[in-house]
Amino acid sequence: MLNTSPEHPDRPALDVEAIRAQFPILTTPTDDQPLIYLDSAASTQQPECVIDAVADYHRGHHANIHRGAYRLSRTATRMYEAARERVARFLNAADPVECLFTRGTTESINLVAATWGRANLQPGDEILISTLEHHSNIVPWQMVAATTGACLRVIPIDDAGDLDLDAYRRLLSPRTRLVAVNQVSNALGTINPVGEITAEAHAVGALVLIDGAQWVAHGPTDVQALDADFYVFSGHKLYGPTGIGVLYGKRRLLESMPPYQGGGDMIERVTFEHTTYAGLPNRFEAGTPHISGAVGLAAAIDWVESIGLEAIGAHEQALLHQATGRLAQIPGLTIKGTARHKSGVVSWVMNDPPIATLDIGTALDLRGICIRTGHHCCQPLMDRLDVTSTARASFGVYNRPDEVEALAEALSEIRASAS
Ligand code: PLP
Repeated sequence: MLNTSPEHPDRPALDVEAIRAQFPILTTPTDDQPLIYLDSAASTQQPECVIDAVADYHRGHHANIHRGAYRLSRTATRMYEAARERVARFLNAADPVECLFTRGTTESINLVAATWGRANLQPGDEILISTLEHHSNIVPWQMVAATTGACLRVIPIDDAGDLDLDAYRRLLSPRTRLVAVNQVSNALGTINPVGEITAEAHAVGALVLIDGAQWVAHGPTDVQALDADFYVFSGHKLYGPTGIGVLYGKRRLLESMPPYQGGGDMIERVTFEHTTYAGLPNRFEAGTPHISGAVGLAAAIDWVESIGLEAIGAHEQALLHQATGRLAQIPGLTIKGTARHKSGVVSWVMNDPPIATLDIGTALDLRGICIRTGHHCCQPLMDRLDVTSTARASFGVYNRPDEVEALAEALSEIRASAS
């Protein structure tokens, strides 16, 4: 699927047309205009092979897993556990049992907060998060702080949207029990130096949870090289299905944590007086899981790796560069988030004349262009930026330069008609 970039003959470029042809939603427009999908940070679209893997599971292999005495159930179990092994290879986890299936990033973080947090935090302990966090990496920590007496501290950012690492170092202390930060900001695109952040947290004896929701589809991930204690992501931002996600945790940590939910599959022995719990990974997967979601996620991982995450990242960087240059030329438009290292996310506001972000999104929708507007589940970050919302375009492997151009032209027109 790789050919060579005309500007850089030594650099491989993606065959975007061949990639787009694999996305039914991009090739069979339901409206009378082509779909320009610039909202991959919210959810990526799914290629045919992912849709087929899920449909194939439902058509020919579906049964409940783990307890069936019959072949169909054993096949479904094998497919589900093979998906776990695929996730483990994707993350370079030392052991597949370190990879738990959840409903997504949000549930993964809530699981750690509710189990590790409640069992380990006490008054005087500190949980360190950053100004860039999504609500799903803020609220669960507030909830566990309220029940344990621990306290939440926040790493500030500079005006460009980079973390203030000196302030981070000053906040770290023996009281710090956990640092929970995203690898990439969904609202601004800032790529955070999570390896460095992790090493410094470990130096004071703190654990680290990395929210990889906005990273895993844009570059390779190696949880062992990062030395992450917990790493979380969602399938639907990785060209996979919704309702499935992953919590990676180091084995000894997961083994030391109490279960999250009680129910079927997570037990070893139940009596009315006492229950003993299963080992990893079942201990944290109570009830019937999202089996087809896991199968679809494994297919999505196969697919992104067949293209190559470095090549995907390079393609998106080119789109980011183009979009940043083009949007910066539009008078009255201010780009929010100009960090040194960014993923394919561009956020902006229009102040002159003032145009509400929702109106921008609605006007773009009339032209078939999908972007996201609002606070992006980052209200504290919006407060820091002194805005209530931004308009955000985010790129995926299927986006083309002409779509960026269409966005820029549409924004110029919207501005002209509001002047
Ligand atoms: N963290 C980040 C950085 C995100 O961008 C998102 C979703 O936008 C989430 C967490 C929550 O993901 P989910 O809604 O899939 O649980």
